[in-house]
Amino acid sequence: MKRTITHLADGRELIYFDRRDDADRSAADRRELGPRPVASELRYDPLTEEWIAMAGHRQTRTFQPKGTAAECPLCPSAPGRDTEIPAYDYDVVVFENRFPSFSGNFGTYEDVGGLSEVRPGAGRCEVVCFTSDHDSSFSRLSDDQVELVMEAWADRTAELSAVEGVEQVFCFENRGSEIGITLAHPHGQIYAYPYVTPRTKLNLGAASRHKGPGNLFADVLAAERAAGTRVVTSNEHWTAFVPAAARWPFEVHVYPHRQVPDLPALTEAQRAAFAPLYTSVLRAFDGLFGVVMPYIAAWHQAPVREGRDLAYLRLELFSIRRAPEKLKYLAGSESAMGAFVNDVLPEEAARMLRSQLDH
Ligand SMILES: [Zn+2]
Repeated sequence: MKRTITHLADGRELIYFDRRDDADRSAADRRELGPRPVASELRYDPLTEEWIAMAGHRQTRTFQPKGTAAECPLCPSAPGRDTEIPAYDYDVVVFENRFPSFSGNFGTYEDVGGLSEVRPGAGRCEVVCFTSDHDSSFSRLSDDQVELVMEAWADRTAELSAVEGVEQVFCFENRGSEIGITLAHPHGQIYAYPYVTPRTKLNLGAASRHKGPGNLFADVLAAERAAGTRVVTSNEHWTAFVPAAARWPFEVHVYPHRQVPDLPALTEAQRAAFAPLYTSVLRAFDGLFGVVMPYIAAWHQAPVREGRDLAYLRLELFSIRRAPEKLKYLAGSESAMGAFVNDVLPEEAARMLRSQLDH
């Protein structure tokens, strides 16, 4: 794997991850780009003890209802058409988001009154292009390509964990217009947060109170493997299962059998075993209703400093589609009270997904 760091016209970093060592990455970004927006401001909610990022500048970001390759900013550049990626081809590429929620570019942040502390949204947001093929999807990537994406995720996790003020690195993919995704090109994002996220705090708190026999996440995995009814698929290194108390109509958690805190800690064998298993689960998702499944795929990694011994790397995948024509919306109970009601039994969801696996 060859890694090449370059810079875009406005100074943002762009990193090529190439399978071939002789890839030419000298192409320059010739666009005229305006100044980069300043970081969001963070405001503390004393009622929930959570930080909320105020990113007003994001209202102006690119919106592409058509999403055709001819105007896609994530496709490689072509003669007469400059995109975010100056090269005319690439394997995997990562670059700093032009309209980030978190960045190292601070403005001025004033006291806003009320019982809220305000501080700059320090950190970083990056975009990961999984392939140069506009019409592909993660589910159709080759195992080699998935492994290259994983190398990029691991590289970025290690690098961003070393950035001052960063407390947690989150690699994720939002897919589908139903999730609000504005670009059709297969891509994901990486957020480097200046705090430990609410969800991770909850999970690690539960892990610290767990009475054993082992680590909470390891015990959940062992119990799901023993029960078997919700296991979708597994191989030597990974198991994919629908959690017993799934919140979403179709939700699959993918755990490595050996506990590691984050993506950089995965062995080569673990990484190689992940690719075929995960893409088969994604294809099963798409097979359920014969229509593209909108989903969120979220890597849960250990924070940079806190609770690393308790944390357990895993991927949580879920969709808001519950039937061919029906989406699950977060309404009163979920949005106002955080109290989820799931319309699909996890055992039934697992059975449906198993029936869609490639044979
Ligand atoms: Zn594209």
